[in-house]
Amino acid sequence: MLSVQASGLSDVGLSRSHNEDYFEIDHEHGLYLVADGMGGHRHGEVASRIAVETIRDYVGRAACQGPSPQAPLGGDRLQAHSRLLREAILAAHEQVLRAMRGDGTLLGMGTTLVGLLLHDRVGAIAHVGDSRAYCLRRGKLDLLTQDHTWVNEQVSAGFLSAQQARNHPLKNVVTRALGGEGQVRVDLREVQVQAGDRYLLCSDGLTTMLTDEEIHHRLAGCEPMAEICRGLVTEANARGGHDNITVVLLALDG
Ligand code: CA
Repeated sequence: MLSVQASGLSDVGLSRSHNEDYFEIDHEHGLYLVADGMGGHRHGEVASRIAVETIRDYVGRAACQGPSPQAPLGGDRLQAHSRLLREAILAAHEQVLRAMRGDGTLLGMGTTLVGLLLHDRVGAIAHVGDSRAYCLRRGKLDLLTQDHTWVNEQVSAGFLSAQQARNHPLKNVVTRALGGEGQVRVDLREVQVQAGDRYLLCSDGLTTMLTDEEIHHRLAGCEPMAEICRGLVTEANARGGHDNITVVLLALDG
């Protein structure tokens, strides 16, 4: 059984008047979440909080109820806890929509979500939007998520370079969000976690300020987890802190 150390930090940054990001560290259920809300008049923070709390409660209730039912027919080979994370995120989407139906002033709010649910040595990683998950393993940093953004789609299609995307005026336009129209599509992957791994979940307030190389350098540091989180946020603010910055960092040991 691997031991997990985790630390999280959320900061308003230097440009925004309030913080619409939200995060959760739930060691009991092995659940780690970052959400980045959007919508005027502080409604982004309503959406991100609803999403995180809905997922946390859904996973907590499932733990009380015991093992999930067997995989449905149709070839869904994901492990039960991966399906649980996806179901919880779909429930969060419904809950954000329900809140908007109940209060018209909330219309237009939404949130990104990136989550990690650990069970034994398998981690389920799910995301919607442009919040990211990274893995640092044996000195190599891997991005585990693909941003659901207009510019990333243009890069994938070969219409923009990564550098052009980084400076593009539409770089903040997400193509998927909880609370958006219709059914939300959740990207999900499973990773076999190993002793020595570090996982970072973060909002785009970090990744628009720091390059992957800079994130790599910080994550590989020997400082305590909380210090590494503080260093990431401090560096993002030193570059301008244009957005809210949220990081959740996990270190796994054998
Ligand atoms: Ca953001």
